[in-house]
Amino acid sequence: MALAFTNSLTRTKEPFVSIRPGEVGLYTCGPTVYNIAHIGNFRAYVFEDLLKRTLQFCGYRVRHVMNLTDVDDKTIRDSRAAGLSLNEFTQRFKDAFFADTKVLRIAPADVYPEATAHIPEMITLIQALIDKGIAYRAEDGSVYFSIARWPNYGQLVHIEAEQMRPGTRVSHDEYAKESVADFALWKSWSEDDGDVAWDSPWGRGRPGWHIECSAMSARYLGPHFDIHCGGVDNMFPHHEDEIAQSEAANGCQFVNVWMHCAHLVVDGVKMSKSLGNFHTLRDVLQRGWSGREVRYVLLATHYRQSLNFSFRACEDARAALQRLDAFRERLLEAARLPDSDTAAAAAAAQAAEAGFRAALEDDLNISAALATLFDLVREGNRLLDAGAVAGAAAKAILGTLERFDSVLAVMTPDEDAGVPADIQALADARQAARKAKDFARADQLRDQLAAAGWVIEDTPKGPRVRRR
Ligand code: AMP
Ligand code: ZN
Repeated sequence: MALAFTNSLTRTKEPFVSIRPGEVGLYTCGPTVYNIAHIGNFRAYVFEDLLKRTLQFCGYRVRHVMNLTDVDDKTIRDSRAAGLSLNEFTQRFKDAFFADTKVLRIAPADVYPEATAHIPEMITLIQALIDKGIAYRAEDGSVYFSIARWPNYGQLVHIEAEQMRPGTRVSHDEYAKESVADFALWKSWSEDDGDVAWDSPWGRGRPGWHIECSAMSARYLGPHFDIHCGGVDNMFPHHEDEIAQSEAANGCQFVNVWMHCAHLVVDGVKMSKSLGNFHTLRDVLQRGWSGREVRYVLLATHYRQSLNFSFRACEDARAALQRLDAFRERLLEAARLPDSDTAAAAAAAQAAEAGFRAALEDDLNISAALATLFDLVREGNRLLDAGAVAGAAAKAILGTLERFDSVLAVMTPDEDAGVPADIQALADARQAARKAKDFARADQLRDQLAAAGWVIEDTPKGPRVRRR
């Protein structure tokens, strides 16, 4: 079977065909860096990681772009409340985000464009929309997208005509589907913005959230690319507005396939910062769970089903990983023995590889992929018991597991277990400061680590953090 994904745009499962043979352009909406991401956010990033690794497993070269939203309503509001400059405020959450993605074994994107570094691209895009008569400048200098002048508006979430309120305006980045209105592309400076402002042809101000992703995706992937992802809550207004802006400005289809993951929920309610029902990754690590156990929990539910987070699920993940570890250890031992007959092991490995690939190709059917993996564990253990897997036969099964792990990334134990993510974030930030020759900041970070009871040792393999 060929690769197929459920496209939110058509609401059907479709065979996947890339624009350029063998290559995929992938854009995933990244974090708004005004807070430490919670594990609900990481559900989205782990789903996107599974997608990317599956594409690579199937032989595609993936160009992956994930933006960092470091200017929007929320980052400005909270940096002002904290009495910090926008950059100082967002930097610590960028650091924390990268530390957490590492703990969760999320493969890094090729580019992480920051909104604040792409204001000229946004201005150019807004100007193109004004030139085409689709955007207009309001009295206060803000620029709005006119939904009345773009009849294709509402493709993604299928907006009814009576919900449309053309001519009325919404200036906030987030608003309800019930009040579809002209949305802000450029927001003229107001007192609430403090010193966050850039010059533009329409006066000083700042971009709206949605234009950021339209501008940065075009910059790094071109105006038309393969796949765009996010959590379902991103569909409206964020992705709907991205489509309108990009297609109106560029005159071509924006994205072929839209994929959205369902929410991570707690007792049936979406995990979110505003509801206060959230766990950060570091909370969960502090309770004694490891990065790969959390990754397993986030990975193991199909992306279009809601994922109910519980510590019971962490226990199940731990048990599953212990079974895998024990199996791999038996195989590593058996691999050192003289060769047995390889036929039975080769057949089991081959059947598993075919099953695993077919499962993932079918809209990332992770339950079926994991079932195939554990069938191989059961069959392999049976053959090991019978002395039918030794030498090359054991190596063949280990090779299969390694290929599976290029997608799952859960099989090797956590090397850095015991180093909390916030400590690792400080160590990583210190290393970055040293690279940038900012030794004052590096020393300051080292002192911060020391105050928290950690020391950094510079080893030939790079810096290592240890408890004092
Ligand atoms: P934000 O930082 O709020 O812009 O969100 C970053 C990403 O996390 C987006 O793709 C959201 O759709 C996603 N997200 C937020 N909350 C959840 C949740 N509870 N479950 C799954 N994804 C979520
Ligand atoms: Zn986005």
